Amino acid sequence: MKLHEYQSKHIFADYGIPIPDGRIASNSAEAKQIAGELGGHVVIKSQVLVGGRGKAGGIRLAKNPQEAEEIATQILGMEIKGLPVRKVLVDEAASIETEIYLGITNDRADRKPTMMASSAGGVDIEEVAKETPEKIVKVGIDPLLGLRDYQARDLAAGIDLPRAHWRTFGQIASGLWRAYLESDATLAEINPLVITSRGRLLAVDGKMVLDDNALFRHTDLAEMRDLDVEPKAETEARKYSLSFIKLEGQIGCMVNGAGLAMATMDIIKLHGGEPANFLDIGGGASSEKVAAALRIILSDPNVKAVLFNIFGGITRGDEVARGIITALDEVKTDVPMVTRLVGTNAEEGRQILSAANMITAETLVDAAKKAIAAANGGDEE
Ligand code: GDP
Ligand code: MN
Repeated sequence: MKLHEYQSKHIFADYGIPIPDGRIASNSAEAKQIAGELGGHVVIKSQVLVGGRGKAGGIRLAKNPQEAEEIATQILGMEIKGLPVRKVLVDEAASIETEIYLGITNDRADRKPTMMASSAGGVDIEEVAKETPEKIVKVGIDPLLGLRDYQARDLAAGIDLPRAHWRTFGQIASGLWRAYLESDATLAEINPLVITSRGRLLAVDGKMVLDDNALFRHTDLAEMRDLDVEPKAETEARKYSLSFIKLEGQIGCMVNGAGLAMATMDIIKLHGGEPANFLDIGGGASSEKVAAALRIILSDPNVKAVLFNIFGGITRGDEVARGIITALDEVKTDVPMVTRLVGTNAEEGRQILSAANMITAETLVDAAKKAIAAANGGDEE
């Protein structure tokens, strides 16, 4: 889960990282009001969950409240990379001398969090990594020891930060590490961390990505989720605790078990089809959950056939079959359905489904072939 800039910066501030004074606005009148309170010279920043807002025109300076209002009107009417701007952050403008990059993420190869710093801040760090990798310095953080003071000094030295800033830089690095650790983040990034003309270090931009699997222990952070930026289907899937990922193909898949779901997608591809989604309904799914899953699959207009691949261990075949029937009663559809049902109560399940005119299959290969044929317009191969 990605956090907005203002949310990330609030968390950073809680860990002692200096951020500009600022507030969030949903309309231009609010933006004007805030600009007035902040002394007029402000930066208006679109809050959308994509990078490169600056280049896209979503970050602009205003010299007075009037100008802030005009710019806020324009930015609030924008779409940036397909995302509507619903809110702007109005921050006291910083007079920037130097832009630094400072971030933490997990280094899978190193098997620990790594903190990175670069003197080439403000620009896309991926670009720096590609063009001038020597400008990025890294330290691996032992998760049990945390970030050590000498490591922060190594980073400061590595980016040629003037000595006068080392102490504050160390505090910021340590704050960022603790914010990352205690929020169960997978990314915490300040880009740019600036040195102002008055010689202050200031986190002008902030970005955090949280580990979805750890959100249950951060209910306050989970509430920050912006539903605007994810496909409706994924919001719906989360409501029913379904693991769902939308893909680009034509064959909707409903499977119980993540491994089985992946195997199902592989088989579909092996036989020349393309899955429309990954969906794991989990063990012991109720008919209500199956119905929700089917609604989600069918809400994708690309779906030309649905393949149910259910292995009944804990999940009972008849329960799944009843769920499918319930769902089909609700969601009237002409999309052909192919089922492969094995395991507990499979026979009962199959009877229920053939009575409802669904295509049944004995093996997974058979099911995949039938689903592909159905998606291409024929009933059988
Ligand atoms: P991003 O483009 O989405 O990464 O958004 P940022 O918050 O990083 O802003 C992009 C760029 O705008 C920064 O690298 C700065 O150069 C500039 N910028 C942001 N805030 C200010 C500010 O308060 N004053 C000035 N002069 N420039 C700013
Ligand atoms: Mn940035």
